[in-house]
Amino acid sequence: MSDVIFPHCPQCTSPMSTDPVEGYYHCTRMDCNFVQYLNPTPVVAAVVEYEHEQLVLAHNASWPEGWFGLITGFLERYEHPDQAIIREVKEELGLQAQASSLIGHYTFERMNQLIIAYHVKVSGTVVLNDELDAYRIIPYEKVQYWPSGTGFALRDHLQQRGFSPLQRSFK
Ligand SMILES: [Zn+2]
Repeated sequence: MSDVIFPHCPQCTSPMSTDPVEGYYHCTRMDCNFVQYLNPTPVVAAVVEYEHEQLVLAHNASWPEGWFGLITGFLERYEHPDQAIIREVKEELGLQAQASSLIGHYTFERMNQLIIAYHVKVSGTVVLNDELDAYRIIPYEKVQYWPSGTGFALRDHLQQRGFSPLQRSFK
C-alpha cells in the first residue's frame, strides 16, 4: 500500500528520509539507492442503479453508524477495472450487473487513492457479503452527494441523468 511509509529501508535497514522529496522518500545511506514512491492506489467504485433511477448505498460493518457509501474495492493483480467493478458488485451485493459504463476518474487525497467510478445497473434481491451489514435504496431525486472522491462521482452521474443533487456534509 502506497500510504504506508517505511521507517527503515527494506534493502539495507538504514533510516528512510522523513520529508517526501518531490513525492517520494529515499534511503539515507549514501550508497543505497532505494526510494519509496507515494503513488496513489487505484480503487473502483460503483454508482449502483437499482431497476430505474434508484441508488443503492451500503454500510460497511467497520464504518460509523449511519454512514452509507458506494460499492468500492481494490483491483486484483492484472485485473481490468471494467471487470473489477462487476466482480465487486457481485461479491458485495450478490447482484449480476446488467450494464456498466465509466463515469470518470476522481482523486481521494486523504487515502491517496485514484477512484475509477462506474455506473452499474442491477435488479434482483440484494444479498450482502460479510463486509457490509446494511443497505439503502434511494430514489435518484432524493439522493444527496458528499464532497469527496466517490461523492463527486455520484454527483456527476446524477447530473448526467438530469438531476440536481444537493451536497450534504461529510460525516
Ligand atoms: Zn537503503
